[in-house]
Amino acid sequence: MKRIHDQNEMSIFLADESRRTGAAQEICFPQTADEIVQLLQEDPRAPITIQGGRTGVTAGAVPESGIAINLSNMSRVIHLPEPDQDAAPYTAIVEPGVLLVRLQEMLHARGLFFPPDPTETTASLGGMVACNSSGACTYRFGATRHHVRSLGMVLADGDTLTLRRGEYTAKAGRFALTTNGGRLIEGTLPQIRMPQVKKHTAGYYVHPDMDMLDLFIGSEGTLGIVTQIEIDVLPEPKHLWGAVVFFPTEDCAIRFVHLLRGDPGSKDGMLLRPQAIEFFGVDTLDMLREAQRTGAALTDMADIPAGCAIYTEFAAEDRSELEPLFRRLGQQIEEAGGDPRQSWFAFRGPDMLRLKDFRHAAPVCVNERVSEIRQDIPTITKLGTDMSVPDSKLDEVFRMYREGLAQEGFQTSLFGHIGNNHLHCNIIPRTEEEYLRGKALYTRWAEDVVRMGGSVSAEHGIGKLKVWLLQKLYSEEELQAMAELKRLFDPAMRLNPGNIFGYNESWSQDR
Ligand SMILES: Cc1cc2nc3c(=O)[nH]c(=O)nc-3n(C[C@H](O)[C@H](O)[C@H](O)COP(=O)(O)OP(=O)(O)OC[C@H]3O[C@@H](n4cnc5c(N)ncnc54)[C@H](O)[C@@H]3O)c2cc1C
Repeated sequence: MKRIHDQNEMSIFLADESRRTGAAQEICFPQTADEIVQLLQEDPRAPITIQGGRTGVTAGAVPESGIAINLSNMSRVIHLPEPDQDAAPYTAIVEPGVLLVRLQEMLHARGLFFPPDPTETTASLGGMVACNSSGACTYRFGATRHHVRSLGMVLADGDTLTLRRGEYTAKAGRFALTTNGGRLIEGTLPQIRMPQVKKHTAGYYVHPDMDMLDLFIGSEGTLGIVTQIEIDVLPEPKHLWGAVVFFPTEDCAIRFVHLLRGDPGSKDGMLLRPQAIEFFGVDTLDMLREAQRTGAALTDMADIPAGCAIYTEFAAEDRSELEPLFRRLGQQIEEAGGDPRQSWFAFRGPDMLRLKDFRHAAPVCVNERVSEIRQDIPTITKLGTDMSVPDSKLDEVFRMYREGLAQEGFQTSLFGHIGNNHLHCNIIPRTEEEYLRGKALYTRWAEDVVRMGGSVSAEHGIGKLKVWLLQKLYSEEELQAMAELKRLFDPAMRLNPGNIFGYNESWSQDR
């Protein structure tokens, strides 16, 4: 097994996309679950931080001390279905270090795909399970949790656990699991008021009668190390058509979202459910236009019009389903105050890829801008929201962001998964003073989102950077009850220390 001790060699592994850097005694690259067991048993007290693709934005994979276990060498694809020979439903089995981009390529060659699609395709499957990741197409297909059939895991003491959907179900909050080593782990699930939103990955997912597999998905590596993943995969649709629709104002764009979703008060929605409904605010298009002007991104695309935009896509087996639907889309664009002639449409694979590149460029440009500022002021981090609210609160949450930003005069970028009422509102602080003011605003927003019945993290998780937000969502008692649940699986609290629960007061204040 490869092991690195040299601090220089280690340095690139001590950070993730949050750009926070940490420290470790060594970084180990196991190739098998047995090697992970061996590492855990070498020093049963050493803190362990688990790493996948390190594309996370909450420093979940950034170690503070002890051993980092990097899973990039556990990247075998164990089973892929052959649609010519196998009957549907199809499943694939992979090791955790397999990157999404590689899996998607292999599936595509077989006419299949894995629906949860975080726009960052260098994420690993293990990281996606740990964060219950989601992406643009979550609007239609749900988050990673909905597509996981079974998990193989190594627990903190080196024992292993295999969970298959439907095998272990809690009854009225009580559960009992048997490890592969024959140990019985039984306990009571905490009673937690889970937000009633479509996307939520803040703290443990618990329900009195839950499938116990779901507890581990989204637990951010705090309960076990995922070593094998079985997922459902779907046949690719024959036709995938998409559009980036430009609007003169953000009010028009929101009206269009209500029409696309067929929300109460709007007419009868689309003939087919869109796969994705994504938003780009005026500030985000300004940023992308600037990147286009300087040659930093999107140079092969047409000039980006003024205003804001919605990206949407539809899939069907037959073109004849999509043609009337796109005629209808044109009417809805006009109804919402836009002009179909100003929109970009894609009816073929290569054009769809360009629209997806356009979508991905938004978070990439924000992260690059923050990195530039951090060269002068390293203490600054991006202040990016990842909060979701119920459908009925979309207009309210949108107003909340825009009014707050207008009062403070920050450099900003608002974009994201508006179909699921989940917007990334990014404050890009230029000074320490702006950072602190931005954080205070973010705190007020989090309190308002919780009052609206929303979640403080819809897809990025809590990691180490958002512990203070989890404290807005849950009471001290609820957080203590979650920590008790962790102790059942990890009595020494050694797995991913700092994630979800924080280390101490200074960590929980995020500086
Ligand atoms: C430009 C950009 C766009 C993004 N867009 C999205 C988006 O649309 N949707 C979305 O959900 N996310 C998005 N992300 C965030 C990120 O890509 C996801 O959270 C991703 O799932 C993280 O996977 P990873 O392999 O990089 O995990 P890492 O960053 O390495 O780890 C993330 C967490 O998972 C834990 N972990 C990793 N592997 C395992 C394992 N095998 N067992 C147990 N725990 C493990 C780590 O300890 C850590 O806590 C984006 C990130 C970037 C940079």
